[in-house]
Amino acid sequence: MKRVAVLTSGGDAPGMNAAIRAVTRAALAKDWEVFGVRNGYAGLLADALDPLAARDVGGIIQRGGTVLGSARCREFAEPAGRAKALAHLAARNVDALVVIGGNGSQSGSASLAREGFTVVGVPSTIDNDLYGTDVSIGADTAINVTLEAIDRLRTTASSHHRAFVVETMGRNCGYIALMAGIGGGAEVIAIPESEVEASEVAERLRAAYRRGKTHALVVVAEGAKHGVHDLLTLYGEQRASIGFDLRLTRLGHVVRGGVPSAADRLLATRLGAAAVDSLAAGRHGVLVGMQRGEINVTSLSEITGRMRPADTALVELARVLAK
Ligand code: ATP
Repeated sequence: MKRVAVLTSGGDAPGMNAAIRAVTRAALAKDWEVFGVRNGYAGLLADALDPLAARDVGGIIQRGGTVLGSARCREFAEPAGRAKALAHLAARNVDALVVIGGNGSQSGSASLAREGFTVVGVPSTIDNDLYGTDVSIGADTAINVTLEAIDRLRTTASSHHRAFVVETMGRNCGYIALMAGIGGGAEVIAIPESEVEASEVAERLRAAYRRGKTHALVVVAEGAKHGVHDLLTLYGEQRASIGFDLRLTRLGHVVRGGVPSAADRLLATRLGAAAVDSLAAGRHGVLVGMQRGEINVTSLSEITGRMRPADTALVELARVLAK
C-alpha cells in the first residue's frame, strides 16, 4: 500500500479543490492512504499533515481557492528546508507527494525529485505559463472573470463615450490579458510578450475616436513594461487630442477568486486522477499535463526554468482585429 500526500502551493487558482478531490478519491480507490498537507510547502516543514477520507473532500468541487490552504515558503527553496520536509514525510512513512501549483511550486517538485523523493506535479496557475501543458488549472476561470468585467465596462463605456484601461493579473505572462482581450474585442492589448508603447496606444485610441467608435477598451497585463502608469501619464498630457475620456480599472485578485468554470473542474479532475495513475505506473518526477486534448507527462527537470511561450499568432490576430 502507498501513502501519498497532496498539497497546493503558490498562488491559489480556481479548480485546485477539484484536483485535491480527484487525487484523494483516485488514490483511495487504489486502497492507498491519503494525507492533505496544510499551506503548501510550509505545511511540510511544519509537519501539518492530516489524513484525508472520501468525505473530507465532499462538497468542494465547486469551490474556488483551496481547502488545504496555500503559501509561499522561502525556506523550502533551500536544501536545509527540503531536508526537514523530507524527514517529516519519512517519519510518517509517506512515500509519494502530489504538488498542485504553478512554476515556482513545480521547481520545488523538481528539487524533491532530484533529491530522490517520489513526486508528481499537477499544473495549476491562472497565468497558464507552465511548460509541458497547453492549459493549467485556473486559467479558464480567470479568463472568464476578466471577460465578464470587460463586457460590463463596455456597456458603461459606450454610454459615456469613454475608453477603459483594464489591468489584469500576469506578472511575466500576458495570457489572461491576451485571451480576454481577444474575447472582449479590445482595441489594444499590451502584454510583456508583445509590448505596446504608450504613444502607440494613444494613437490607436485617437484613431478609434475619429472612426466614430463610441467606446474603446485597452487590456494591459500588470507585467507589461509600458503599462498603465506610462499610459495615464501620456493621457494627462494629450487628453484633448485623444478624444475619449479615459478610466482605469484594476482587476487585481478578483481574477483569482470565485467559482471554477466547468472547463477548470473537468481539467482538474482529469489531471488529479492522472497524477495518481502516473504514480501507480511508477512514472514520477513528472508533471502531468494536457497537450492537444490528451493527458501526457513531461519530466520535471525539463520544465524547470522554462515557460510556455505566448502564441504569437494570437498576438497578431488581436492586432489585426482591433480595427
Ligand atoms: P503562481 O504561478 O500562481 O505564482 P507558483 O507556484 O509559481 O504559483 P511561487 O511563489 O513562485 O508560486 O512558488 C511557490 C513556492 O514554491 C515557493 O514559495 C517555494 O516554497 C517553492 N519554490 C519556488 N521556487 C523554488 C525552487 N527553485 N526550488 C524549490 N522550491 C521552490
